[in-house]
Amino acid sequence: MPALSPREILDRLVAFPSVSRDSNLPLVDWVEGYLADHGIASVRVPSPCGTKAHLYAQVGPAVDGGVILSGHSDVVPVDGQEWDTDPWTVIEKDGRLYGRGCCDMKGFDALAIAALVEGAGRPLNRPLQLALSYDEEVGCMAVADLVRAMVDVLPKAAAVIVGEPSMMKVVTGHKGGVGIRCHAHGFEVHSSRLPYGVSAIMESARLIQWANDRNAENMARTPAPLAAEFDPPWTTLHVGMIEGGTAHNITARDCRFVMEMRVVPGENPETWRDAALAEGARISAAMQAIHPGTGIDMDPMFRVPPLTPEAGGAAERLARRLTGDNGTHVVSYGTEGGQFQVIGGYSTVVCGPGDIAQAHQANEFLDVAQFEAGWQFMQGILDDLAA
Ligand SMILES: [Zn+2]
Repeated sequence: MPALSPREILDRLVAFPSVSRDSNLPLVDWVEGYLADHGIASVRVPSPCGTKAHLYAQVGPAVDGGVILSGHSDVVPVDGQEWDTDPWTVIEKDGRLYGRGCCDMKGFDALAIAALVEGAGRPLNRPLQLALSYDEEVGCMAVADLVRAMVDVLPKAAAVIVGEPSMMKVVTGHKGGVGIRCHAHGFEVHSSRLPYGVSAIMESARLIQWANDRNAENMARTPAPLAAEFDPPWTTLHVGMIEGGTAHNITARDCRFVMEMRVVPGENPETWRDAALAEGARISAAMQAIHPGTGIDMDPMFRVPPLTPEAGGAAERLARRLTGDNGTHVVSYGTEGGQFQVIGGYSTVVCGPGDIAQAHQANEFLDVAQFEAGWQFMQGILDDLAA
């Protein structure tokens, strides 16, 4: 099979409706087969349930100092979105490539796969590695297994490029994230007998007020240098959904909400998660003193480390040299980059084609010019690895 162009690979990838809730194995099968057709062995890291897999591969000599191209294979759903074209077919119109995932981030995936195949035919002095993950769009948690597998097996790369859409700017930092699903269990009595009941809503409000107090505290503090580039330059705690109760005159038996935290580099998401759990336990103990069996169940949903800017790190130097971008960029969205940094100890930046504003939208698109700039970037990486 002749090598496909990046655009032809993009057509293939977008045709797999690899929504996070579904299996990504058909897409992985195709990538694995395509790479194998070009003499490139790849390795799967299966999900615990077996319905999904990460994939990694390497071309070039098995020595340290290479580059990892990191992309995710999953996309967000199209349910309820008004698309003008079939989201699972790439349509080129007015200099744009429309389709689910074109921007976030099958455009970068296609470039990375094409670069790997081209790299296999070139005399590289250091390797090019591909890291293709699942479940990025549902909290970036799964990639930890992929990072561990690559660190264990492959020679250590000098730089990781996470190709999330950044308009090919070099993004050196983002906040981390924590999500905690909370379910307060109260005890129902007529509200006229308030002290004998436990209102799940009123008790939840204590935990939410704790979050408000932390925000006020964080805001009042002078930001640490690593946090100062962000807006706002402090860790935020937020409850965006809440439901509970049955009637205005019954102490609520149930209240459910989700607490989300956006943690600045330099602070530890686990510390914040543990602080919330400790406060929940304190409130639960007080609830149980009134009536046994009550309390707040707190179920951590995700925990994503921040991407911490590395002053003059290898990934930053490489990406700046190839893109010519010397600006300072931190972003508000999360990526898998923090795990590469924290778990793998890799120097990591985010740099990829397209605008995050188009991600997750109906009529998601990638500018052809961005796709071409991304391909130039890949050529630069190959030239660098061959030098
Ligand atoms: Zn993405």
